[in-house]
Amino acid sequence: MRRRSTPMDAAVVNAECRRRKVQLATGSDRTRAHSVGSAGVGNHDVWSADSPLSARSRTGRLPAMATPACPRCGGTSSNLLAPGYHECTSQMLVNVVPPGAQGNPGPVPIYQLCGHRYQTGAAAVGAPQCACGMYAVGACRDCGEPLCGRHVNTRNDTVLCADHANAVDRARAQEKANRKDQQLQALHAWEADAVEALLAVPDRVERFLRAVVEIEHARTPDLNALLKGQPSNRAIADWLIAHAAPPLTNVLIYEQGLFGSKQRRYPGWTFSGGSVAIYNFPHGEKAPGAISVLTDGRIYYDRSFTPAENDRFNAEAIKRIYRCARVQPLGLPPRPRVG
Ligand SMILES: [Zn+2]
Ligand SMILES: [Zn+2]
Ligand SMILES: [Zn+2]
Repeated sequence: MRRRSTPMDAAVVNAECRRRKVQLATGSDRTRAHSVGSAGVGNHDVWSADSPLSARSRTGRLPAMATPACPRCGGTSSNLLAPGYHECTSQMLVNVVPPGAQGNPGPVPIYQLCGHRYQTGAAAVGAPQCACGMYAVGACRDCGEPLCGRHVNTRNDTVLCADHANAVDRARAQEKANRKDQQLQALHAWEADAVEALLAVPDRVERFLRAVVEIEHARTPDLNALLKGQPSNRAIADWLIAHAAPPLTNVLIYEQGLFGSKQRRYPGWTFSGGSVAIYNFPHGEKAPGAISVLTDGRIYYDRSFTPAENDRFNAEAIKRIYRCARVQPLGLPPRPRVG
């Protein structure tokens, strides 16, 4: 397209098709806007009938001009987003805390940044108009539709009309869905590998401990089944006695003898707070109790060898049992993230 070298006559501009104007604007004005990037307009395509931009391109600065008052708060400080298009930076009174409400002796005003965006003034005669009738402050980068401050959309710092902004949003949503899909596939593949690695562990108790400690949670049913299949306390206690490093403690227990209850100490491992059952403690607190495994094979539940109903090692105790045995982790790669 041939570029005009003479200043455009406003009437001629109006007569010309919109597309032609857009191409002129996006061609010549864009480069000018970029060359004065510090002026705060960014890289939006900016419509201008000669005055603000050409003034700026000569001096490299925005011409000094009085900011018209914000229609929302009446403030006069603003950022110029595009010629004739402002973002209010005034502090706006939003509330007053009455005296005494928070222990304050007098009323306390509360201010907030206004942030209202508004369009001002008559852009020069002949400037392109948005479909709504307002003067345009930019044009869609994709189709060239002139857009006013209210109808302008920005995506990736680019000005777009509503349709093209929607298209960008849809593409982004699709991309996000695809990414999530891939992440889920990777996770399912990882969980299948984890199932395989766990099933290769011959000992049932060790397999369960590894699942709880090394896998922790699962999305796929096969892996979840391995996490949920907790062996009996008896089986876990036997495994601990067979595999753990020597116990460091002598466990204090109350044994019922012929002449009443007696305190005795036996070597073993205590997992305090390690029960699923909630026990009542002397001062009225309710909490998980201790489960101890003695080296002679007995299991001691808090204050008795008789477990509370359905009591078993909780996840915390399972982790400690795993650590006692110092097993080498399966060495699975890190679990893929699903964002
Ligand atoms: Zn304002
Ligand atoms: Zn468009
Ligand atoms: Zn509009």
